This record gives sequence, structure tokens and C-alpha cells, in this order.
Amino acid sequence: MDRTHLLNELWQYQLKFGFISDKAISRISKKLNVSIVEIESVITFYHFFHQKPTGEYIIYLNNSIISDIKGYEAVKAAFEKETGCTFNEDGDKEFSLFDTSCIGMSDQEPAALINFLPFTDLTPNKVKHIIASLKNGENLEDLASKTKSKIQYHPEGEKAIIFRPYEMGKSIEEGLKFTPEEIVNKISKAKLLGLGGAFFPVGYKWNSCKNNEADTKYIICNADEGEPGTFKDRALFQYLPGLVIEGMILAGYATGAKEGIIYLRAEYQYFKDKIEDVLSVFRKANLLGENILGVKDFDFEIRIQLGAGSYVCGAASALIESLEGRRGEPPVRFWSATKHGFRHKPTVVNNVETLAYASRIIELGEDHFLSMGTEESPGTKLLSISGDVAKPGIYEIEFGTSIIDLLGIEMSQATSPYFIQVSGPSGECVNNTEFNRRICKEDIMCGGSFMVFNRTRDILNILRNFMEFFKEESCGVCTPCRAGNYILTEKVKKMQRGLSSQEDIEEIKQWGKIIKLSSRCGLGKSSPNSLIYAVDKFKDYFNLKIPPTNEFLNVEFDMEDAVQEFDSFIKDTQT
Ligand code: SF4
Repeated sequence: MDRTHLLNELWQYQLKFGFISDKAISRISKKLNVSIVEIESVITFYHFFHQKPTGEYIIYLNNSIISDIKGYEAVKAAFEKETGCTFNEDGDKEFSLFDTSCIGMSDQEPAALINFLPFTDLTPNKVKHIIASLKNGENLEDLASKTKSKIQYHPEGEKAIIFRPYEMGKSIEEGLKFTPEEIVNKISKAKLLGLGGAFFPVGYKWNSCKNNEADTKYIICNADEGEPGTFKDRALFQYLPGLVIEGMILAGYATGAKEGIIYLRAEYQYFKDKIEDVLSVFRKANLLGENILGVKDFDFEIRIQLGAGSYVCGAASALIESLEGRRGEPPVRFWSATKHGFRHKPTVVNNVETLAYASRIIELGEDHFLSMGTEESPGTKLLSISGDVAKPGIYEIEFGTSIIDLLGIEMSQATSPYFIQVSGPSGECVNNTEFNRRICKEDIMCGGSFMVFNRTRDILNILRNFMEFFKEESCGVCTPCRAGNYILTEKVKKMQRGLSSQEDIEEIKQWGKIIKLSSRCGLGKSSPNSLIYAVDKFKDYFNLKIPPTNEFLNVEFDMEDAVQEFDSFIKDTQT
């Protein structure tokens, strides 16, 4: 057994005992031949591993901005009142409370995970009932919520690509009529893009993996859906897991890979067993295993690897580090994953939605896909719409659909939309002069998260939530991201206190540029986006926040800070 089993070993102790003791670490160290120090460094990297004992019930309450506008503070207070514990401190034998970032429930907020089971649409009363029931010894599973999202079809439903009737094995049967080269060509011809947010051409990726000779290759399904506001991949696994699995099998057939791994975010472990059941059905139908559907040497197997709570692991390079049993820190790589990926073997990493589309393209034919959407982004796309809308949920939209249509009466039914965040905190905010912009490669792309805020929402509150998120999730290996996101968060807080000047706006832009240009991975390259877009697009709002008279106030404030900092510096140097 090697260190690629490390996360699984840690999970066994975490789930059984609620924490990972020194004794457990020592045992794992001997078993996997990994030093204790290294194991501890891995444990401390992930949100859901604990080294101190926790209560019987571990409660993770989502603190995303959508949760915030739907009543997070009141729910948080209710949890503290009913349990008698405080968030992010040692709990008692019964309860431990922790904040966590988006858990993929933005259409049902506020939401929490209790021992990794979902509890949605929380209110203080609901919390009171849940905690009282747990204290009475009621079964946690019986209390948990059903988490199905509302699926809203393409406006012309019959044209839907994803949310249409599913027939198990259909895409594999169709795919086997073609050679691996032809499959790659079909995906390339369809111009399928990576739909997790990177929008990298999928055909290119598959072709590169196929052409790299190796005894072993891997297909990884990236189910680490961590961008706040997105929940489409959860819905895909809950409604159409077979479609995703078939996409993996087809990718294996096209590239010559025989092993697939679903990297499932820890927040979604409550449906891991359901995916395992579907995999068993696939095995029985000879859609997995050896000589699939009688085709000699077409072997493919899939296993599930649980993540452990880290946004940055959604990036392919960090995800591979995590799979290899390390901290999920994006390395400086000179090779693409399709050449040296998991275990240094050619590897395709595709998002859940991308694989589902690959399967449909083979099933329906690339011409069907090309008949919709735009020139550069054909087909449809799944969006997770949440916030100030009457109908939150998953929408399958045609690429090229305008923002105004998404907000309209036929679709999400937004109420006084004002600030729209397209593609999550790492994406771009849009003001009401831009509502005719279209979701497509030619205009504004969206990885899946589409958050709507009305005029009653405070923009600085939204931006502060985003910046706190990035500050928390930065893995810290590069200084611009580690320090820069901290500085930008402080700038937002300063503005909220009414102490900023125009100079701060300029500094925000400069810091934003530095972070974007000098960070190693996508987190740092995108974390300042919302803030630097917002200060330009919502000038009226920011002008109100920074009256010209504040220039004097700002100088005075900075002087005080400087004197205090200098005093502590002198004290530090004297001790
Ligand atoms: Fe880590 Fe941020 Fe650097 Fe990415 S940009 S490697 S998250 S410190």
C-alpha cells in the first residue's frame, strides 16, 4: 500500500472517531511508510480532518454569500443557542460547530451538513427542532433533508441535451461503432469545452492523452465542485449518474485508459453509496470490467476517491496532488496532466458536466450538439441559479442565451436584479447596463454559478464574503495570493467602516493586478476579479462609499495605524 491511500486511511479514522489521534497517525505512518510530519501536514491542509476530539455530531454550516442573504446569521445563532457551543471552537461531547464554504446547496440555503448529511432551508425554528431531536436520540438519517434541486429545462424542452430521457449504456453502444480516433474526432468536431470553468477544448485533451504512449493511463472525473453558488454537478450525480459514468468509459475507450477515478468532494459523500450502486449495476451489465460489451481488451474500472475539503483541489494539478496523498497545493508543473498526470502517467481530468456532455454527444451525434449554441460554444450548458430569484435551480440553457432571459419571467424570475455574479466569486460581476450580454465564449462564459442580488443587498458585503473565501482557501504557497488576498479583504473592511479614499481604490486595482499576474494557480489568478470589476462597474455605489472628504479621514486613520504598528514593532524588537 502506498501513500495514494492516505486520504482514505485518514477518512476511516475521521469518520469512526470524529478525529485522527496521534496513535492513528503513527499507525498510518507505519502502514504507508510516510513520515508522521508529512501526515500531519496533510491533515492540517484539509478542512474536514480534525486532530482534536470532536462531538458526536459535527455540524458544518455554510457561510457563503447566498447563505448569508437567506438568513445565515440567525441560523448560526440558533445552533449556538440550542447546542450551547460556539462556532469554530472546541465543542462538547455531543456537538462541534464549524463554518464551512459553499456546500453545493445554494438553491436551498441556509444549509448545513451534520455528520456529512444535508440539512437545508434552515430557520431558527428548524434548528431548534433538529437539535432537540438529536438530544432525544432520534436517528440523524431520518432528520436529514432531501436535496433534489429543481431542474428547469431549456426553453424549448425537447431540444435539451442533458435533461432528456436516459437509457443506460446507449452512448457506449453508439461509441463502440467507432474507433477511438473517431470518438476523439467527434468530440473535437463538437467543440466541446471543459465546463467546470476552464473551457479547455476536450478533444485536444483526449487526443493528447491518447497519443502519449504509456502502460497505464487514467481518466479522472473532477467532482470537486467548490465554486460558491454552483450545484449543477451535484444534481447531475443525483439525477443522471450513469451519464457521467458513461462519459468516463468513453474517455477511457478513446484514450486507452483502463482506470477511472471519481474525485468526489467530501461535502457530497452522502450520495457516494448511490454512485457505488450505479457502478455495480454497470458492472453487472458488463459496461464496466473486462472486455466491455464483448469488445476484446476494452477494459475499464472506476473507483471513488473522497476529497477532504479544499477549494483549490478543484484545479486539476492540485487534485492530482491530493489523489497522490499530499497537500492539495498546485505544484509548479512543466508537463501537462495528459503527459505526466496521476502517478506520472497520462491522465485526463474532466469535470462532471463535461463528461455528461461527452456521453450525449456520442449518443446523439455531434451535429445535434452543433445545431445549438454559438459558433465558438455550441450546444447547451447547465447553470446553477440562486439568490434573489423566485425560481432557483439548475437550468439547461442554450449557449448564447442573454442574461436578461435568464432573469426573466420564463426562467429564474429575478426580483429587482442589480448585481449579478457570473461564474462564482472567481468570475465577473455584471451591472444592469450589461443584461443583454450573452452566456457564451464570444461574450461572457459561466462555469455554472449564476448568483443574483437585488438592490437591497450591500455590494461591499458580497465582496467581503468573496474575499474572505479566497483568503481562507488560498493554499499559501505563493506570497502574492497569500498576502494579497488578505490585503484586499482588509481594504473591503476598511471601506465598510467608511474610512477609505480614492487611493484605496487605486491600490485595490494595483494589488489585483499583482495577484493575478504573479500567482501560481487559478485561485490567485482569479480571486481579485469580482472586486476589481465591481469598483469599475458600480462606480456610483463606490463614490457614495468614498466621499471626497474622506481623504483627510484616511490620512488620519493611516497615521494611527502606522504609530501603533511602529510601537508594536519596537516592543517586539526589545523582547
Ligand atoms: Fe496556492 Fe494561491 Fe498560489 Fe494557487 S495562487 S498555489 S492557491 S497560494
